[in-house]
Amino acid sequence: MKKLLLLATGGTIACRETENGLSPALGGAALLDFVPQLRDLCEIDVRDLMQLDSTDLTAADRLAIAQAVRQAAGRYDGFVIAHGTDTLSYTAALLHYLLADIPKPVVLTGSMLPMGASGSDAPRNLLDACRVAADGRAGVCAVLYGRIIAGDRVCKFDSHAMDAFVSAGAPPLGSVGTDGKVRWDVPAAPPESTAPDAVDPHVLLVKLTPDLDPTFFTALCGYPKVILETFGAGGLPARLEDAVRSLMESGTRLYVTSQCPAGSVDLHRYAVGRRAEALGAVSLGSRTTEAALAAVMCGLV
Ligand code: ASP
Repeated sequence: MKKLLLLATGGTIACRETENGLSPALGGAALLDFVPQLRDLCEIDVRDLMQLDSTDLTAADRLAIAQAVRQAAGRYDGFVIAHGTDTLSYTAALLHYLLADIPKPVVLTGSMLPMGASGSDAPRNLLDACRVAADGRAGVCAVLYGRIIAGDRVCKFDSHAMDAFVSAGAPPLGSVGTDGKVRWDVPAAPPESTAPDAVDPHVLLVKLTPDLDPTFFTALCGYPKVILETFGAGGLPARLEDAVRSLMESGTRLYVTSQCPAGSVDLHRYAVGRRAEALGAVSLGSRTTEAALAAVMCGLV
């Protein structure tokens, strides 16, 4: 029988109603009590890492999750991380890079309704996540609503529906059927030989809007790394050119990503893109915004 480690971090899946609204209260062992079918599937240990709404998580918490997996990698066949859904895409993207060399499954899951609430998606998601972790395919992924999504493609698309997540810019890796069968639709990628072990959280993400004031960039001068989430294939409006040039002359490194969830930045295609390219802005390619942020934080671009 496969041996898994459940890392509990909080989120709606662990929430109880309080006088201040939903707040995480259940540890990993309490979550497992709601899924007795797991006893026939795997042996599972629990580590309660934190009990937070995922809105409160920072890069330090995400590093702690990565370190917990790395420290235990030799003792378990796979890992399940119970996590709030609101920032699950950010954690999945960061772990995708930080754990790229771990030859074990690392599966994030969460739920839109608390464990134990009527009609909750939590038991199914936790069970499915354990099924995927026990299946043995290496890599970081999220399992939600029967969909298996690569760690760097996770996108929370709906803030209310149970079917809240999509795989952005690439098809899902696979699915877990209502019969519990894990099905892979995309071939596995081998683990990397190395992975970054540090994260620089000083990366600012700026969404370009049609009327963004150029003086905004003056306030950013000297900030280490700025990602500009531009339109379509990527470009810089003429009216921002001088301000962005000054920003880059102040030592700020500028990266370009797209507001489109799928497709890719191509700074060579349009004159507006070449304007950014000529200033020395770095394209983040086809990465999702979360994966772009994670790759820059890990110093990979
Ligand atoms: N606010 C919650 C969280 O991200 C939402 C959820 O888990 O669904 O922790």
